[in-house]
Amino acid sequence: MDFKYFDIHSHLNLQPLRNDEEAVVFRMRAHETATITVGVDAQTSRDAVLLAEKYPFFWATVGLHPTDNTSEAFDFEEYKKIAAHPRVVAIGECGLDYFRNQTEETKNRQKEVFKQHIMLALELNKPLMIHARPSKGSMDAYSDVLAMLEPYQKTIRANFHFFIGNKEIAMQVLALGFTISFDGPITFARDYDEVIQMVPLESLMAETDAPFAAPVPYRGKTCEPWMVEEVVKKIAEIRNEDFEKVRAQLLLNAMRFTGLTPLN
Ligand SMILES: [Zn+2]
Repeated sequence: MDFKYFDIHSHLNLQPLRNDEEAVVFRMRAHETATITVGVDAQTSRDAVLLAEKYPFFWATVGLHPTDNTSEAFDFEEYKKIAAHPRVVAIGECGLDYFRNQTEETKNRQKEVFKQHIMLALELNKPLMIHARPSKGSMDAYSDVLAMLEPYQKTIRANFHFFIGNKEIAMQVLALGFTISFDGPITFARDYDEVIQMVPLESLMAETDAPFAAPVPYRGKTCEPWMVEEVVKKIAEIRNEDFEKVRAQLLLNAMRFTGLTPLN
């Protein structure tokens, strides 16, 4: 399938999408949308790989979500085995999540697990899919993630998924050569407009984080990857740029991030 949109972060490996796979994939075909299924633990990472083996317009990431690491230890060798698969295009989602009160101990634990993901990305030469969520009224998780990535800026690639950082954080991300992706909330909250206008189009990508955060006009419904079209439209509108130009460039950016050869 040739595709026009690339939702670089979704979860058909999670409910309720998991039980609705065929119908969701049917709608993705109709909307010419490819996606990367993102693992949040070992099982969902394996499921992401299975989806990528099943559908030619699916790829996968392998990782342990920062707030999922309390129940499961990060087994480096096990994750490496899963992540070595050729259709695994990134490591993650991984990073730091301080949104719900974290103690110094849980923060340190998150940092340890994140460090393991950085090592895995370096070893397999795959980019990182970063999840960074600061505590309320702060940019703390972003500052800590950036500090941990800085020593590797020349050797590692990374995308900051579901970006909610401010202009200063965005500039630091760009200075390290990393990219930023936006989702449904940009269609109904105006907090991100300045960053979306400021970031070079070449450093932006679109995603849904489905089944979470459906864009307008689908708010309140289960989010699905094909809805990424609305995110792309909104990015073009906010930047006051031609829709087709933005669509084509975001698709190219996604292909570049994942190391895939662009299809025509
Ligand atoms: Zn996610």
